[in-house]
Amino acid sequence: MAFESKLQRVGTTIFSTMSALAVEHQAVNLGQGFPDFPMPEALREGVSKAMRDGFNQYAPMPGYLPLREKIAEKVQALYGASIDPSTAITITPGGTYAIYTALTTIVHPGDEVIVFEPAYDSYIPNIELNRGVVVTISLSHPDYRIDWEELKRKITPRTRAIVLNSPHNPTGQVLTDLDIVALRSIVSEHPDLYLISDEVYENLIFDGMPHLSMLRYPDLRERSFVCFSFGKVYHCTGWKLGYCIAPEGLMKEFRKVHQFNVFTCFAPAQVALAEYLENKEGYLLLGTFLQRKRDLFLSLMQGSRFEFLPSHGSYFICAKYHKISEESDTDFAIRLIKEAGVATIPVSAFYRTGEDHKVLRFCFAKKEETLRAARERLSGVR
Ligand code: PMP
Ligand code: GLN
Repeated sequence: MAFESKLQRVGTTIFSTMSALAVEHQAVNLGQGFPDFPMPEALREGVSKAMRDGFNQYAPMPGYLPLREKIAEKVQALYGASIDPSTAITITPGGTYAIYTALTTIVHPGDEVIVFEPAYDSYIPNIELNRGVVVTISLSHPDYRIDWEELKRKITPRTRAIVLNSPHNPTGQVLTDLDIVALRSIVSEHPDLYLISDEVYENLIFDGMPHLSMLRYPDLRERSFVCFSFGKVYHCTGWKLGYCIAPEGLMKEFRKVHQFNVFTCFAPAQVALAEYLENKEGYLLLGTFLQRKRDLFLSLMQGSRFEFLPSHGSYFICAKYHKISEESDTDFAIRLIKEAGVATIPVSAFYRTGEDHKVLRFCFAKKEETLRAARERLSGVR
């Protein structure tokens, strides 16, 4: 039977591919972004307790209300935003799903959506599944900043949304005050433009930099779907739980899509998270914790021929390898797995056309011994 794929250019994601190769070659996996250290024990225990306490049936469609209330308190404290937990927050099975649902809510066939590349790999297929038109803008290389003048030029009457991501995967760049000034000025000219803001790394931010959430700015907040992930904040990526915050009118539409897709998410974890969110240190100390890991990894890699680029947030740091090899980043990454026993992610995978600046992404959200083992294995790579 002839079948017309809706995603003709898409194969298996680079994260699955590299993790499978890492297993096959028993490589140290600094590829796919997930921590190899344990999640907080109290939170794990909280889920067992919630199950024992009988929270085993459907949670309400938008999520367990006490959890939404705790989220509202968190964003009030961190971003000064008054968010109504009953109308403006929905618990989702992960940040990726929140982004997909937001795009599905607003993108009609033929609408243009602007994406900055390198871009997290789900954005473009999500737009295409909704028969939107993807308009890409390359971040400058190697500092990975947004060219706001180019954004201005690329906005047309068909532009429905812009996808933003800070702290940024794969580069670890973060939006600054100057970026926000430019963004506010541009969107003020376009009342019908939405923002999909991927803020899953909100608390994973370093060097004393503040996270400039869209929620801080009323003019940006009123047009934004802001997407978060508990998996990233609490070292439990396998739980696949997150949430979306959007103004009531937009959230009403978001929930129409959500209710016919997953309807509601795993209840015991929502109950446990509602309690655990009381512990503010759980997220406030995260930046310092991961900054130490970044700095340890950088100090271990000192003297190698990789040239590391700055990372101010996320779990990731990128490195150029032109002093080692002229291979494409994918070939080099595969050879590193097979010959050195270390998995990374080639950054060309984050570009629709495979733009290759010969840069690899390393995930440093790992135990010290894992980072040391990677260093050991990479020491022979000259
Ligand atoms: N956005 C970015 C930029 C990510 O790196 C991730 C991590 N996979 C996600 C969204 C999705 O997070 P989740 O696992 O909660 O779906
Ligand atoms: N966000 C993770 C990364 O960038 C991976 C998530 C996934 O495997 N889809 O590595």
